[in-house]
Amino acid sequence: MAALRLLADSYFDGSALHPEREGPYLLTIEDARIVSIDRQASQAPFDERAAFVMPGLVEAHAHLFLDGGELDFDKRNAYLNAPKDEMLRVARENIGRNAAAGVTLLRDAGDRYGINDAIRAEQGGGSVVVRSPGLGIKRPKRYGGFMARDIEAGGDVAPVVAQMATQADDIKIILTGIIDFAAGEVKGAPQFNEEELRAIVATAHARGRKTFAHCSGLDGLKVAVAAGVDSIEHGFFMTPDILDAMVEKRIAWVPTVSPVHFQWARPELAGWDGNTIGNLRRILDGHAEHIALAYRKGVELVAGSDAGSPGVVHGAALIDEIFHFVDAGLPMAAALEATTSRPRRLWNAPTASIGAGAAADLIAFGRSPFETPEVLREGARRVGI
Ligand SMILES: [Zn+2]
Repeated sequence: MAALRLLADSYFDGSALHPEREGPYLLTIEDARIVSIDRQASQAPFDERAAFVMPGLVEAHAHLFLDGGELDFDKRNAYLNAPKDEMLRVARENIGRNAAAGVTLLRDAGDRYGINDAIRAEQGGGSVVVRSPGLGIKRPKRYGGFMARDIEAGGDVAPVVAQMATQADDIKIILTGIIDFAAGEVKGAPQFNEEELRAIVATAHARGRKTFAHCSGLDGLKVAVAAGVDSIEHGFFMTPDILDAMVEKRIAWVPTVSPVHFQWARPELAGWDGNTIGNLRRILDGHAEHIALAYRKGVELVAGSDAGSPGVVHGAALIDEIFHFVDAGLPMAAALEATTSRPRRLWNAPTASIGAGAAADLIAFGRSPFETPEVLREGARRVGI
């Protein structure tokens, strides 16, 4: 195949910006690999031109079968009984939304209907590579019915996890309940204790699978870090001590700001009163503070939106998540690293970092987000293919 020459004014390689003053940069791509990058290539002939190039985005936490744009709670509930074809249609639309935003790798975070597995198979090497956990695991009568199977208390979890690992890319654990916004806390004990969670993690690791745990509130966070899960999802009510333990154990954090932010931004939809709105603001402020602290301490921060949750629209919400990181105080490069190279490294996924010899998994924006962050909201296009 003939080489494709892509000229970029500037690019982000997955960890650092290569600025315009040293550009433009000529990326020569052959057989879907970057064979060379030449600086100050303004005189070079090229086939394709872009203002700004970066690795494809990674969405680390999304529920493909759910339409985050559906705000009517009755319709959302009724949808859980919709025929499979309808759910597949919604999921395909969500893939399209992610692709338009620049997502090329997406980790689904669980669904009871197997839509995530179906879409993973359907996508194959398509525009968005899907990692699927299939169903997560939870305790009977506890939170997570739409995305997880029940494991009875007292039963041996290892065989269940071993069976899951034959199909699942990652093992999803529903460790806690959700936040009770009116009370401003997470209610109920963790669904699995430390010993049980250790057994789940050990079984997953023995089969080459990583674990990610839905977890908010200090009780659950303590169990999650003690048992050594690979990633804490949501992680509301974080503390500096938990962050220290996460640094030590290399536990990732996907703080999913978007769903709580939406509840705060549109309180009338759920009918939240002034007290609850105050709780939401306090929770968001504490979250932002700990995201900034996590960055300073060196926690493996990863961007994931929880798309599919009310008001959390696939694709657009991942971009919101980048802005939540930046608003919390992360430099743009750190926010983009959390959305590109870091999750790929943590998941042992093929690298998409831009360098000679690397696979070309590239997207372009009309301007540099380092100068005009808002350009991220305008959509990305795939380049170099
Ligand atoms: Zn989720």
